[in-house]
Amino acid sequence: MSKVYFIENVKSDYDQLGKDALLLLKKVVAETGHRFDKEVPIKVHFGEKGNKTFIPAACYDETINYLKEKGVSPSYIETNVLYRGSRTTTEVHLETAKAHGFNQIPIIIADGDIGTEYNEIEIGKEYLKSCKIGKAYGNYGQFIVMSHFKGHIEAGFGGALKQLAMGFAARGGKLEQHSGISPVVKAEKCVSCGICVNKCNYGAIEIMDFAVIDSSKCIGCAGCIAVCPTGAIRNTWTGSHFLEKLSEYAYGASKDKDNIYIAFVHNITQECDCAGMHMEPITGNIGVLASKDPVALDTACLELVQKNSGELLFDKGRTSLRHAEKIGLGTMDYELIQI
Ligand code: SF4
Ligand code: SF4
Repeated sequence: MSKVYFIENVKSDYDQLGKDALLLLKKVVAETGHRFDKEVPIKVHFGEKGNKTFIPAACYDETINYLKEKGVSPSYIETNVLYRGSRTTTEVHLETAKAHGFNQIPIIIADGDIGTEYNEIEIGKEYLKSCKIGKAYGNYGQFIVMSHFKGHIEAGFGGALKQLAMGFAARGGKLEQHSGISPVVKAEKCVSCGICVNKCNYGAIEIMDFAVIDSSKCIGCAGCIAVCPTGAIRNTWTGSHFLEKLSEYAYGASKDKDNIYIAFVHNITQECDCAGMHMEPITGNIGVLASKDPVALDTACLELVQKNSGELLFDKGRTSLRHAEKIGLGTMDYELIQI
């Protein structure tokens, strides 16, 4: 059984949420004897342009100041996204982060300028033998993984597991979870400019009447998706076993890392912070939770949301939780300790 610490806070007072997060961080440190490394990146989500319900930068101030006081050097860390938006390349991603107020500490985009730099982490699990994890994650032994618990169309919910699985994966790793390996070209959007051909290091793209991807050569780095000026290249979003692959990527992302996980169960929207639009919360705020076990943390968040709403919201995400438990990432059996 894993311990999950919880502070109830239903108000939209971001300064207080930040204080609660720090209190829980200190609690986990005290209870587990956690020792910080000299450099500890904080994994966050900067929010897509137009999104208003991501966890704001102010919620991290207390944690940042605490780490600095302890002589620890903090940074934010993230990876570029798979789809075309305001966080597709490092250049626009940094602009979006700064526009959303994430100016306190350096920002590391772990998978390079267009999301193609990664380390292949061996996991040998049921659906995946290895994971493509953003290269810069390899430079650190621990992270404070801060997640926003809310809905997600494909995953059921987004919490700590998704923050690890998608948030640590390079663009090709995201593609691998969402679908098979190769993206596809939408013929009517392709202007045969050849930019993708020059980008592909594997000779997998040829211009016929339009660009065509040879899936036998494609390794799924997804670099072509980022450089296509017309958005003609895209992931098919049709993958099988997405929920299980998500758990296996979370396993790969956290393998040999000594992480602390904190979740803000606030602004609980139907869709995630990658949605660049205004969304109204679909149920009430709950508070902040923390644990060393991401599976226990997500299970506790899910069950608090379901209990509070009286509905089986986001329940499809239990498939990921069960698979995560099966492969040894953590346990769904938790003790909730309210502070
Ligand atoms: S970069 Fe896009 S528009 Fe240009 S050839 Fe490739 S698919 Fe077509
Ligand atoms: S076609 Fe080339 S650039 Fe595109 S995902 Fe495959 S390997 Fe990467």
